[in-house]
Amino acid sequence: MPNLLESDFYFFQEALSAPEQEAVLALREYMETSVRPIADACWSRAEFPMEVVKPLAELGLLGAPWPETRHFENTAVYRGWTAMEMGRVDASIATFVGVQNGLAMGSIAETGSPEQRAEWLPQLSRGEVIGAFGLTEPFSGSDSARGLRTTAERRGDTWVLNGAKRWIGNATFADVVVIWAKDTGDGQVKGFLVTKDTPGFVATKIEDKVALRTVQNADIVLTDVEVPESRRLQNANSFRDTATVLRLTRAEVAWQAVGVAIGAYEAALAYAKTREQFGKPIASRQLVQDLLVRSLGNITASIAICLQVSKLLDQGRQHDAHSALAKAYTTARMRETVGWCREVLGGNGIVLEHGVARFFADAEAIYSYEGTREMNTLIVGRAITGFAAFA
Ligand code: FAD
Repeated sequence: MPNLLESDFYFFQEALSAPEQEAVLALREYMETSVRPIADACWSRAEFPMEVVKPLAELGLLGAPWPETRHFENTAVYRGWTAMEMGRVDASIATFVGVQNGLAMGSIAETGSPEQRAEWLPQLSRGEVIGAFGLTEPFSGSDSARGLRTTAERRGDTWVLNGAKRWIGNATFADVVVIWAKDTGDGQVKGFLVTKDTPGFVATKIEDKVALRTVQNADIVLTDVEVPESRRLQNANSFRDTATVLRLTRAEVAWQAVGVAIGAYEAALAYAKTREQFGKPIASRQLVQDLLVRSLGNITASIAICLQVSKLLDQGRQHDAHSALAKAYTTARMRETVGWCREVLGGNGIVLEHGVARFFADAEAIYSYEGTREMNTLIVGRAITGFAAFA
């Protein structure tokens, strides 16, 4: 098996087909040679490197699951693995792809009409058009299933949107944003494709984040934004349809979290082998080995969970609770792992140049987005007990 990651201790990569492994190696090469060298500087300046979009599209990262756009026949296991590979080098790039591919394209693919799919998916997959996904609001995060305040009022063949959105990734530069709003007619959540030049649509960058700084998150204000009926996602009829999109993206965020843990672990392992204290490399100390081995245990268990949750998707057997458990579990393990890896570096663990600090910080955002640990726990709790404990 060529180029196995040293952190892939149980050779999980062998679960991928030969063409999938080749594609993973090409992505790894791109991430190492083109993204790793710029990742810390982009993070530090809180700037998104637009130059990565085209190569990522050429590598087939955008639109991989859908027949209109995919480069080659591939599995959910492969697509999850690519999220891990990106997260291992730069969680912000993995997040960009997750928003473009999973949230924006996913909404159109899962809830759009055949005409909407044909219009939008190919250009999004080529990276010619950038997408975003606007669900969260200033007063509605975890309870977006029932708490959305953004409204959509139908007037003939036009919908009028009013409200506000918060945290919307890519939205400062996105050409099209999927806005989820409550229909004032039937009270159901519906999806609308809002293009950036629409009068009344204003997106403002959220400044001074301490995690995923490279990702451009925006506050959005919608004032009497007019959207034609042809730009309403034709098969999004209630929040249930929005949740279908989230089920798919949550499983990929679970993989992404493993990548972040791996990125921190590999940097900590390399550091421990060269950093000497008391006349010997710190890697020779039992207590340091304990931190490294516990980290590897978390990574290994997390990959196993992710592999199975993606296999369930490939078999058409994945439910919301499956991806919720994966997301809750791997992000919690990631958060422990980046803390242990930070500890291995001592003071250098909080400086970008030593390779762990960025993962340590980024883990906090991944832990909370796409459903916090508590929300995903409650989704699983409902599935196993039959009792909904959200409110
Ligand atoms: P709240 O919902 O206010 O939760 C605060 C805390 O209370 C959490 O710990 C939560 O678990 C806990 N809590 C809430 N209710 C309960 C309960 N019933 N029981 C127990 N605990 C509870 N959103 C988008 O729509 N599009 C995006 O592209 C996007 N990108 C994001 C990128 C980043 C970097 C971040 C940080 C967020 C992004 N989000 C996006 C929003 C994200 O999905 C929300 O932050 C997340 O759902 C949590 O919502 P909240 O921040 O409003 O927290």
